[in-house]
Amino acid sequence: MKILIAADNGVKRENFEIAFKEIAKEHEVKIIEVDRNLTFTPTTNSEKNIKEYIGSPRQLVKEIDEADILVVNYAPVTEEVMDADKNLKLIGVTRGGPVNVDLQAATKRGIFVVNAPERTVDAVADFTIGLMIAEARNLARAYHMLKTGKVLKINPRLFGDAIIQGIELPGKTLGIIGFGRIGRAVAVRAKGFGMRILAYDPYVKEDEIRNCGVEPVNLETLLKESDFISLHVRLTKETEHMIGEGELKRMKKTAYLINTSRGKVVDEKALYKALKEKWIAGAALDVVEEEPISPANPLLKLDNVTVTPHIAGLTQEVPLKSALIIADEITRYIRGERLSRLVNKELQKI
Ligand code: NAD
Repeated sequence: MKILIAADNGVKRENFEIAFKEIAKEHEVKIIEVDRNLTFTPTTNSEKNIKEYIGSPRQLVKEIDEADILVVNYAPVTEEVMDADKNLKLIGVTRGGPVNVDLQAATKRGIFVVNAPERTVDAVADFTIGLMIAEARNLARAYHMLKTGKVLKINPRLFGDAIIQGIELPGKTLGIIGFGRIGRAVAVRAKGFGMRILAYDPYVKEDEIRNCGVEPVNLETLLKESDFISLHVRLTKETEHMIGEGELKRMKKTAYLINTSRGKVVDEKALYKALKEKWIAGAALDVVEEEPISPANPLLKLDNVTVTPHIAGLTQEVPLKSALIIADEITRYIRGERLSRLVNKELQKI
């Protein structure tokens, strides 16, 4: 088989070289670098169908050369690329969401698309727990106070200032909204802290949630009973602004909201009001509605929020993990086995 891989600064050539070492012993593997200087203005429907890409489809059109398999991270894969290669049977995308590939066009042509949905699960789950502790124990706030000289004036160690006096996790209730890959990994970690865990996910069977040692509940119960609420849904029409004024008002006054999912899942104006007027104790956000966050975003003026610049999924381990996951799928394909990470499932025949 002929395999073309487009490496970039997200998943680098050396990651692919390690992951595809075995495959390269028997198959032709060519690795190119995405040209970041190439840009294009989307004009065709297919070009408008894709997002979050780097480079231009023209580079792939030039390089594809009858490959059976194409592997990309950020490179844009439009129907123009697919039509340039009548041999193309599978596209591997080393990302959680294959948003830089025109999925509709691939499905129409019977081209399998596989991706790496679990690549950032550990990274984001670790980070979520980190944000919970950052809020519960005022880590970021205390350091900020120290750096700006405030802590020396207040001397909280002597006077037990309420801002620095944190809360402990054992015995507290964590409410997980969206019990998918990351939600479950957060639950495993939170169990280690001795927390009671609730989950709301209408698409997961209650027994499946119970089997993880987690209580399945409706949204109402989760909002009312949780000391920490952590969001782990994907952004869809249904989940957009699913946390708004009404939901924030139903949370405990002492509760914290943690968001590592997507900014638009939370109505940010409502959250600002909730934090400013102390309907809830605080929030920790890795994602906001408009990214990169503007320095003028009013959330940055509040004391009861910790914001990070969408870094939950960024670890040194993720790039190699991503390449290994796609190499594993390609090995399955070559052996004629069932693909386990097929995105266009309607093409599944075995
Ligand atoms: P997933 O698809 O495995 O899980 C999502 C879960 O949400 C599913 O179980 C689904 O049934 C559930 N769900 C869908 N609609 C729902 C609703 N209305 N109410 C409650 N639950 C609902 O996704 P994942 O891989 O666990 O990712 C979770 C989130 O983390 C996504 O938003 C993803 O974009 C985000 N993410 C963020 C980073 C980062 O750097 N901050 C990195 C990776 C992923």
